[in-house]
Amino acid sequence: MNARQESSDDLVAMREASVARGVVTAHPVIAARAAGAYLWDAAGRKYLDFVGGIGVLNVGHNHPTVVAAVQQQLAAFSHVCFQVASYEPYIRLAARLGELVAPGQGYKSVFLTTGAEAVENAVKIARGYTNRPGVIAFRGGFHGRTLLGMTLTGMCAPYKQNFGPFAPDVYHTPYPDEYRDITTDDALAALRQVFTTQIAPERVAAIIVEPVQGDGGFLAAPPAFMRALRTLTQQHGIVLIADEIQTGFGRTGTMFGFQHSDIQPDLVTVAKSLAGGLPLSGVVGRADIMDAPQPGGLGGTYGGNPLACAAANAVLDIFESDNLLERSRAIGAQLREGLESLCELHPEMGEIRQIGAMCAVEFVTDRHSKAPNTSLVQSVLDAARHEGLLMIKCGVERNVVRFLGPLTATDQDVWDALQMFARALDVAKRSH
Ligand code: PLP
Repeated sequence: MNARQESSDDLVAMREASVARGVVTAHPVIAARAAGAYLWDAAGRKYLDFVGGIGVLNVGHNHPTVVAAVQQQLAAFSHVCFQVASYEPYIRLAARLGELVAPGQGYKSVFLTTGAEAVENAVKIARGYTNRPGVIAFRGGFHGRTLLGMTLTGMCAPYKQNFGPFAPDVYHTPYPDEYRDITTDDALAALRQVFTTQIAPERVAAIIVEPVQGDGGFLAAPPAFMRALRTLTQQHGIVLIADEIQTGFGRTGTMFGFQHSDIQPDLVTVAKSLAGGLPLSGVVGRADIMDAPQPGGLGGTYGGNPLACAAANAVLDIFESDNLLERSRAIGAQLREGLESLCELHPEMGEIRQIGAMCAVEFVTDRHSKAPNTSLVQSVLDAARHEGLLMIKCGVERNVVRFLGPLTATDQDVWDALQMFARALDVAKRSH
């Protein structure tokens, strides 16, 4: 064992002893440095990173444009607090995001720090605007780990545990999942039942929906479902919130996931890949709704930190200069083709889900029963790491493997990922 390996093992042991076990780490890897699609651990091992800090690094690790923008901002100032003095990176970012979400419609923004905080603020703004209490969310959805975030989340383990009581006036209803026989019509009928049995629509402030459920298993809402949600919310004066925290910034092949359905949400939550690795989130929305809270009702000490806003403006520059939306679609097509050919060999691959570069495989014990194959997924992820590929799982049953490589990945990177994934699958099945 070399000295680097030894000190890396020491850190893993120290982590076990000193860090609360509730913060789970998917891989026993101590990160030392990273660039583009690659990450090196403290022992000097190189990994192809198809997790990207859980969908945060659509422009890759340490993109030079992001690094330069942050360095330049750091040399000027790192923090003043937007509630004390405003600054250009925040203002410019708000203007750019408004145009990206709803061109020409004057959408406004507020910036926060984490995704959960963006969700909290979106609900707060919707309640402030409508003066109604209710919020409807979807089974299988993930919206964060704060009290309201976990209440809105439609998954028990591990997010809810014994953390209740939860926030009041939140109602869950099924999300379409054709693979598991929940059609758009079924999901809409269930939503109407919420209105008749749980809360009248005129008491509902907001419906919050992920255009593609991320942690819930990379399930895409059919465009007809999103359009029906838009119609229903308009009929009843309900604010439609698109949670784009995982789907945003090109992951699905369009800038935002809702753009596949040709609808305009009232509020959009953004975070993760917005700022290329710096902590930044936001709510972007219709001006009359965004302006409902009185001055002082929104904000936070670190919300819209200058370094993070500078990084986010650089990320948007990269989207413009590097045509990353087209790249997202190309990566998705390459992944689908590679995974489809693997499907012929592996009946445990129940379904491939792909929309742009947002791609995942649901594993089952067999295609007839569709019973979740959670244990095989863990073995595949461990074997992939040994091959040099980092990936993580998702899905309510944790039986889905997600591909979250950067949109800057080359064809060769994607090819390598597919090869490593194929070998990992063979190894995992042999050891099963
Ligand atoms: N909403 C969605 C759709 C997410 O995917 C996540 C994080 O995975 C969140 C909200 C919460 O974001 P954060 O972990 O930054 O609080």
